[in-house]
Amino acid sequence: MSVPSDIEIAQKATLKPIVEIAEQLGLAADKIEPYGHYKAKINPNDVFAKPPKSKNSKLVLVTAINPTPAGEGKTTVTIGLTDALNRVHKQNQDGKRTIVALREPSVGPVFGIKGGAAGGGYAQVLPMEDINLHFTGDLHAIGAANNLLAALIDNHIYQGNALNIDPKQILWRRAMDMNDRQLRNIVSGLGNTSDGVMREGGFDITVASEVMAIFCLATDLADLKQRLGDILVAYSKDKKPIYAKDLKAHGAMTALLKEAIKPNLVQTIEGNPAILHGGPFANIAHGCNSVIATRTALHLADYTLTEAGFGADLGAEKFCDIKCRLSGLTPDAAVVVATIRALKYNGGASKDNLKQEDLAALDQGLPNLTKHIENLQEIFGLRVIVAINNFESDTEAEIEMVRKACKRLKVDVALTQVWEKGGAGGEDLAKALIDLLDAADNDPKAKHGEFKFAYDTQMRIEDKIRTVAQRVYGANDIDISSTARAKIKRLESLQLDKLPICIAKTQYSLSDNASLLGRPTGFNVQVRDISLSNGAGFIVVICGPIMRMPGLPKVPSAERIDVDDEGNIVGLF
Ligand code: ADP
Ligand code: MG
Repeated sequence: MSVPSDIEIAQKATLKPIVEIAEQLGLAADKIEPYGHYKAKINPNDVFAKPPKSKNSKLVLVTAINPTPAGEGKTTVTIGLTDALNRVHKQNQDGKRTIVALREPSVGPVFGIKGGAAGGGYAQVLPMEDINLHFTGDLHAIGAANNLLAALIDNHIYQGNALNIDPKQILWRRAMDMNDRQLRNIVSGLGNTSDGVMREGGFDITVASEVMAIFCLATDLADLKQRLGDILVAYSKDKKPIYAKDLKAHGAMTALLKEAIKPNLVQTIEGNPAILHGGPFANIAHGCNSVIATRTALHLADYTLTEAGFGADLGAEKFCDIKCRLSGLTPDAAVVVATIRALKYNGGASKDNLKQEDLAALDQGLPNLTKHIENLQEIFGLRVIVAINNFESDTEAEIEMVRKACKRLKVDVALTQVWEKGGAGGEDLAKALIDLLDAADNDPKAKHGEFKFAYDTQMRIEDKIRTVAQRVYGANDIDISSTARAKIKRLESLQLDKLPICIAKTQYSLSDNASLLGRPTGFNVQVRDISLSNGAGFIVVICGPIMRMPGLPKVPSAERIDVDDEGNIVGLF
């Protein structure tokens, strides 16, 4: 099999004008705001003013097992499955429609290590160059809102500090959409007395900003403004919490976001509608596209596919316990993407040997898949289907072994070849998913209210963490550092503790230790630090070293990216 590079495939594709994509959704040209010919903003108020396309609209989460460092193809499968479902709708002439709702990429990583964020092979969203570079400017708007708040804090102190902000207890950092480790820790306000107040600070990449998390959890403009006002920015010298609203920052921050908050419409390679909107980190934030985008898709479609960052221990848990809990969304099923190479990696095969057949390692790695399936079914009450994302190096015997394992677990499984073949390579998966959802509809016992959360937000912070660690990760217990303990105490005394938790840990293991592969047991999760994202509405629990501002690698992909004299981008994936 010889598949050209992602950008070659993307540039060969013929795009439909975005007004045609909108028409497929029943949105007239005057109901979208085009950004050029192939991208548009959708005004959600226009969408919600009309009745939903279906009263039985389905929400399907695409998640995965614990990955190898190369990524397992969640985005690729989500996009390919969207094209496959739309093919099946056409074949069945059932008048149904599937939309994909995804995160929009950050610019920073594009120039770092090679790897797209808009799918791959013949399962991509287009125009991929625009989507990966600036897109409709949402990330810049979010960065600007973040930095406006930072400027207002420092200006407040400079102008006399009426709120008595303790410069040593400022929690808010600046943000920029670039991988730049040089700005991780800085001293600012150097110079003369008129040049500001000197203090230590730093930059996070924009996707790590709480503004991004808020943007993705807000239900409308009013909710966005309220959440921005609720950001905890600092403590005063007499230990009182200072919120963004105390600085009267939230109105102006919302003004900067009023266009960005409208979801972006683009198309898949096969001309089906795709909504890309918001993209928070999947460790210190919840890793899902915006609630507004998911709701918009659900309103316009019969089936909505969406993805959550990293494996199901992080992505699916936060999708359910944070995004769905805070927004009232209810998922109907989960697709678990598994690759033979990641299963072998989880079974102890070395990173360099993943292309060789290794049934012993595969067998050792399968318990990782089993644990994720059990979690989704038993903890969250979701129906599950496994998608084997087929790589060229997979052998028949390996694929058969995974199929048999799923059979033993009584879970549906389908091989997908969307990366190589586009929607045509995902039709088996699409049909199996439709069958699964139809079966649920026809089973009156299963119909309502099966969806559950892993814990109750009213529990104490420590108990919430222990519950996720034990139930979802399979830990023995948790160890809490003295720093984290002091912060938990402070949040409890301020009564800011009855929120969902957002655990930041390695994505490579079910545990908090990247080297414990497969289905580890007998470990304790180490809670190092705690921080509050009060506007977003969750408590971040930091387990292990978590990077909020990535750096560039020794040979950044920026060195390969170029533009020819006609304006065509080259070297992008
Ligand atoms: P995730 O969303 O899980 O991080 P992506 O869908 O972004 O993963 O895929 C990660 C990388 O792997 C991308 O470069 C993509 O093109 C590539 N990829 C995905 N599936 C396949 C496949 N079946 N064969 C070869 N490459 C693939
Ligand atoms: Mg992805």
